[in-house]
Amino acid sequence: MSLIRPSEMSVKCIILLVTNLLYTYGLNKNPSILIIGAGPSGIAAASRLWKNNFTNLKILEAENRIGGRIHSVKFGDAYVDLGGEWCHGEKGNIVFDMVKQYDILRHTNASIQMYYSNGTLLDQKIYNGMAEFAKSMYASLNNTEIEEKCGNLSSIGECVDSQFNSTFAELYQNDSDLQTIVTEAKGWLEGYILGYDSAFTIHDIARKSAYEQCEGDLGLNWNGRGYKTILEVMLQQYPDPTQSLAVTNNIILNKEVTRIIWNNSANHVLCLDNTTYAADHVIFTASLGVLKASHESLFQPALSDEMVRAIKNIGFGAIMKIILHFPHTWWDTSQPYAFIWSAADRKKILTEFGKGPVRNGRSWLTENLSFIPAENNPKVLIGFFAGEMVPEIEQESNEVLSAGCMYMFRKFLGRTHNNITDPDDIIKSRWYSNPHFRGTYSYDSAKNTEQGLQNKLAAPLLRKSGDPAIQFAGEATHPYHFSTVHGAIESGFREADRLIHYYAQH
Ligand SMILES: Cc1cc2nc3c(=O)[nH]c(=O)nc-3n(C[C@H](O)[C@H](O)[C@H](O)COP(=O)(O)OP(=O)(O)OC[C@H]3O[C@@H](n4cnc5c(N)ncnc54)[C@H](O)[C@@H]3O)c2cc1C
Repeated sequence: MSLIRPSEMSVKCIILLVTNLLYTYGLNKNPSILIIGAGPSGIAAASRLWKNNFTNLKILEAENRIGGRIHSVKFGDAYVDLGGEWCHGEKGNIVFDMVKQYDILRHTNASIQMYYSNGTLLDQKIYNGMAEFAKSMYASLNNTEIEEKCGNLSSIGECVDSQFNSTFAELYQNDSDLQTIVTEAKGWLEGYILGYDSAFTIHDIARKSAYEQCEGDLGLNWNGRGYKTILEVMLQQYPDPTQSLAVTNNIILNKEVTRIIWNNSANHVLCLDNTTYAADHVIFTASLGVLKASHESLFQPALSDEMVRAIKNIGFGAIMKIILHFPHTWWDTSQPYAFIWSAADRKKILTEFGKGPVRNGRSWLTENLSFIPAENNPKVLIGFFAGEMVPEIEQESNEVLSAGCMYMFRKFLGRTHNNITDPDDIIKSRWYSNPHFRGTYSYDSAKNTEQGLQNKLAAPLLRKSGDPAIQFAGEATHPYHFSTVHGAIESGFREADRLIHYYAQH
């Protein structure tokens, strides 16, 4: 009797054959899954798959940290967020639902105190009128009522241009000083609107959007714990760290994916460091900014025309935060500040503070929307900037940014606030210049005339067998909660569920 020892090669062939048979007959319930990106959508997908016993999964993350556009940093006495900051709403908001039992979220006082560049505090009714006006510029896609005012206009910018003067002329008809100030505040109002959508111009923001607000408080803050808390909740590191999901061991940092090659039997993922990974399924979660810049080199074969249209026509811009720490608190910690430049003072900026980006004779300082007191962090102020100069402001040195903010504080608040001191620390966001993001969040662009683009971006790439080869998650793929953390998380759960249901049926 001769003993036949199978060669190593034939053992591999047998394993492959058995795997294929199991797979074909639906018995491979633990397929290999690669999730690209460890932002909230990637973490959501990974945690749900893991809890459903899909443990053959890895997350490849280009940055040296998890969280993506959630980036909570210890600064001063608590955490501040360079990215996502507030939980927007309570009803139908998955973030709120996941944390409500822990009593972490707090109401934020968002009613802004507006100061004029001559150093006076403006009447609260100016801010209220502006906020009301901004809200009235938006219309829902589902609204079928005939609109009297901007009915035929496609962008917020056109609507603002057509309604601004008449609305405020009527509102303040007996007060010419107020009318002047409000006219001067138009630039600020534009920035305020840009902050919501993170576009570079209000003429690119669609007036009718598929975005749906969740009901309830739209500005719930994390009380100094940072938005990172939601990642800890999904990974079961909060409230009890001993319950942490072991999927955290499968997150590979500093792993930038450069190419995803797929066909009817497998996916191959190539990385910048020349490593490669094979997987049955890939869930791609990088931002729309990354897709806009790199979809052609990222996917082989190329994405469909429909998908490329969605990538091009959904808007993606950037806002920026400059966060300052001071040796002591010299401001009113109960409310945010906004600064309205008089026409004359706006011109003077370039001679009084000529440093930093300037566009069409306008200083970067006029792109400031507000400074808000950080929550549970009494020595920290967070400045928000929006508009076309954001990419340049991101590149500016901390010295210039901090000196510019101090010039503004002294000009607007010097008459009413004592002891204004220079900051002793500063951090800033750089979402636009970071190649792993290339901006902050998506919006419905006025240039687009096609509906349902987010669904097109979310469509999985299927094999002939119907097996999902590449799936897409991330905020920009959510049909009505795009731009938000809750939208990102719902999209991650959606793609995890797609696989879970697929394997339940096969
Ligand atoms: C300044 C700012 C303020 C915001 N404010 C709010 C707010 O108050 N409330 C709110 O709800 N939302 C807010 N958002 C939006 C919210 O943060 C995002 O919608 C959400 O975090 C997006 O999550 P995501 O998983 O879709 O994408 P991301 O968080 O971008 O995650 C994608 C991940 O993919 C990684 N990646 C990219 N390319 C590659 C590659 N080639 N290979 C491997 N990995 C890659 C990235 O590094 C990233 O970690 C804000 C965002 C910013 C930037």
